[in-house]
Amino acid sequence: MQAILEAIQAGASGDDLANLPIPESYRAAFVKRDEQNMWEGVASEDKDPRKSLHVGEVATPELAPDEVYVAVMASAINFNTVWTSIFEPVSTFGFLDRLGKESVWGARHALPYHVVGSDAAGVVVRTGSAVRNWKAGDKVTIHCNHVDDQDPSAHDDSMLASNQRIWGFETNFGSLADLTVVKANQLMPKPKHLTWEEAASNALCNSTSYRMIVSPHAGDLKQGQAVLVWGATGGIGGYAVQYVLNGGGTPVGVVSSDKRRRLLNEMGVEHVIDRREAGYQFWKDEHTQDEKEWRRLGKDIRSLIGRDVDTVFEHPGRQTFGASVFAAARGGKIVTCAATSGYMIEYDNRHLWMKLKSIVSSHFANYKEAWAANQLIAEGKIQPLLSRTYALEETGAAALAVHKNEIEGKAGVLCLAPEKGLGIDDPEFREKVGEDKITLFQRFDQSEI
Ligand code: NAP
Repeated sequence: MQAILEAIQAGASGDDLANLPIPESYRAAFVKRDEQNMWEGVASEDKDPRKSLHVGEVATPELAPDEVYVAVMASAINFNTVWTSIFEPVSTFGFLDRLGKESVWGARHALPYHVVGSDAAGVVVRTGSAVRNWKAGDKVTIHCNHVDDQDPSAHDDSMLASNQRIWGFETNFGSLADLTVVKANQLMPKPKHLTWEEAASNALCNSTSYRMIVSPHAGDLKQGQAVLVWGATGGIGGYAVQYVLNGGGTPVGVVSSDKRRRLLNEMGVEHVIDRREAGYQFWKDEHTQDEKEWRRLGKDIRSLIGRDVDTVFEHPGRQTFGASVFAAARGGKIVTCAATSGYMIEYDNRHLWMKLKSIVSSHFANYKEAWAANQLIAEGKIQPLLSRTYALEETGAAALAVHKNEIEGKAGVLCLAPEKGLGIDDPEFREKVGEDKITLFQRFDQSEI
């Protein structure tokens, strides 16, 4: 991989890159099948991804005709890598085994180790024989929607494909590595004004939030609508508030500290609720919710914006879902893509049907949505949320920080890129967009704000 890195740094042509040998093994972060029961009896919050995520050499898989090898310059941590590393709610080896039974190419994925990671920026170094739109030397970001485009159910909305999977979570050969194998229909052009690590940190969360807020498949935001965004400085929440602002809506951001309130204000979000300061106790005990607390949230929202929210951007799950259903306006939507605090959900159905609200499920994004979200980054209309960058060897520590809710925005990971700050191809455009805007989360993390 060193020769490939040197060629990329020297600006080698696509042909030159395509002529370099692909190594038989590469450095990667992975969990081990024989450790999948290691956390038995350990509480979720005590599971330390540094113990389960290993970094070492793995064998390079063969390339299928519709795939490419990408030299990964940088990657990022997503919550799905936390789930994989704590083997919750299930071990991801079950996903790999199912994929393994699907086809000859699928069989490559069922291995004793799982290379994790679902976000990357890098350079295409080899294309399979069926790849038409990409070539060696292309600088790319990668979205994580892994679908077989020969399956009829993958057309129309590919998120409805019967074999839809998330790359690096439900497939092997993920992005937290020096090399990755992806389908050509996962590739998108790298935004030229960003560093490798800034470019690598967007696709998964940005595309998810695009679908949840903007796309007719889920949020379908209209000008003037108000949206309650839980975790508004988190990975998906930080893009969600930008989409609401861009779309002429009013975000109400919920966070858990004054620091995060200030960060939201810097992003242009005027209305913020600090959930720790408010001290909401939506559950009286494990079995009983407290409607009075839902009403208190509703009152707090109305005291900020003078009305109820049209949409709730919901992902914390069990702890907030009852309150989210209550807080949405008559005819409003609760758009949900996750359940971080627990997936067995309870809400009062009377508040849903009597007020004609709807619960809309959303999951990642199809290629078109991911492409549109990437384009908005490339045009400087949506900013990256990179706050902290780790070395590949520190993947476990990075995942632990995300698990512990210690990071605003995104944690980046340097793979082949030898240091931070490399990869900017259009410094003029970067200046036009504004260094301050692009690096807001990084500066905030370093306490410069
Ligand atoms: P993240 O960066 O850790 O941010 C989540 C935010 O949620 C935190 O910053 C925290 O903000 C808030 N939060 C956490 N627990 C909460 C609770 N009990 N009540 C209220 N707020 C809480 O994670 P992320 O990347 O945004 O992902 C969030 C969830 O969405 C994860 O479960 C992830 O797996 C899922 N996800 C799903 C998809 C999909 O395609 N379906 C895509 C991306 C992510 P404060 O503490 O500041 O309030």
